[in-house]
Amino acid sequence: MPVLLKSKQGKNMKLHEYQSKTIFAKYGIPIPKGRVAATADEAKQIAEELGGRVVIKSQVLVGGRGKAGGVKVAKNADEAAELAQQILAMEIKGLPVRKVLVDEAAAIEHEIYFSITNDRAAKKPVMIASSAGGVDIEEVAATTPEKIIKVHIDPLLGLRDYQSRDIAASIDLPRELWRDFSRIASGLWQAYRDTDAELAEINPLVITKDNKLVALDGKMLIDDNALFRHPDLAEIRDVDEEAPAETEARRYGLSFIKLDGNIGCMVNGAGLAMTSMDIVKLFGGEPANFLDIGGGAGAEKVAAAMRIILSDPNVKAVLFNIFGGITRCDEVARGILTAMDEVKPNVPMVVRLVGTNAEEGRRLLDNANMITAETLADAAKKAVAAAKGN
Ligand code: GDP
Ligand code: MN
Repeated sequence: MPVLLKSKQGKNMKLHEYQSKTIFAKYGIPIPKGRVAATADEAKQIAEELGGRVVIKSQVLVGGRGKAGGVKVAKNADEAAELAQQILAMEIKGLPVRKVLVDEAAAIEHEIYFSITNDRAAKKPVMIASSAGGVDIEEVAATTPEKIIKVHIDPLLGLRDYQSRDIAASIDLPRELWRDFSRIASGLWQAYRDTDAELAEINPLVITKDNKLVALDGKMLIDDNALFRHPDLAEIRDVDEEAPAETEARRYGLSFIKLDGNIGCMVNGAGLAMTSMDIVKLFGGEPANFLDIGGGAGAEKVAAAMRIILSDPNVKAVLFNIFGGITRCDEVARGILTAMDEVKPNVPMVVRLVGTNAEEGRRLLDNANMITAETLADAAKKAVAAAKGN
């Protein structure tokens, strides 16, 4: 997440460092030479090609790899093999390292933080920079926020050159680097805009000992809802690195977001889903997820939704709130029965069906050992009580 801005991000796809940097390079941002390896042998060979001194970097979709020991500098190809072996055996924040990036090591003089993200409150993209870049940037943002510079970008005008120079001046960048910095800034802006990104981040952007600017790290988040127009990006999505429930939900066209509560919610329509969650909270419960099965969901989709909800061990009760319009209640009921057959849930389930074919739906569920409810309030109360074991 972009730690420097507290506004919420939507659903998005995370790109690996090497993927992000490849995009940056296309937009003229200087990056180190390097390639990805899946074994120590490959890492060694790449290190040899690059002349020995390399940095071995775990490719996992979480931040703070450096602090976790997932980024290490090797003096020669043999050491590169050794370090790659070590890092490939690591798990970082619960994610196994499957690949490492082997990059030509940079001699660092200074580390800068530089990113573009959406500022939802301002309804504009914002460019964020700090002269105190590197692994402690979150600490800097928390304790010395005056060291974080923000400049909003008008989405219609785009990034103006004077804005880049303003930033360069604010972070005390040496004048002889301003021109290169401006190029990097406009490259980052174009990359951000062209890919429908929610975040494009370089941390650190370094000044090297020989006084050049290089993007050593890269991170991009791409808006999920824009992926349909970026098939090339959708294709490089690393589903191995995502929560399985989210991958599964996407496969069935379900809008699903996992939350921390214990009441699973299965609802049709985003508005009704939000209302159901609010009412669950009103009666003292906490939703385990947001889930919109969408209009016209058939039995197969409902069954997938139920599997996803029940795969969360926190779930102590499930609330079904279905408003039958295009979605037929009897279809949903069949989906529930199919899923129950398959997953044999051992948590109480509260169901409220109204609208198209509700009666038939209820009749189908008569023998399914479910708690039925007439109104949404009634259903929420019953689900909250059931989750508490009452
Ligand atoms: P992160 O911890 O996941 O953000 O990974 P980074 O790629 O940002 O690396 C963390 C830190 O490792 C950087 O802030 C640098 O201080 C250091 N580092 C990364 N690449 C190099 C390199 O090529 N040479 C040197 N000397 N240090 C590096
Ligand atoms: Mn970094």
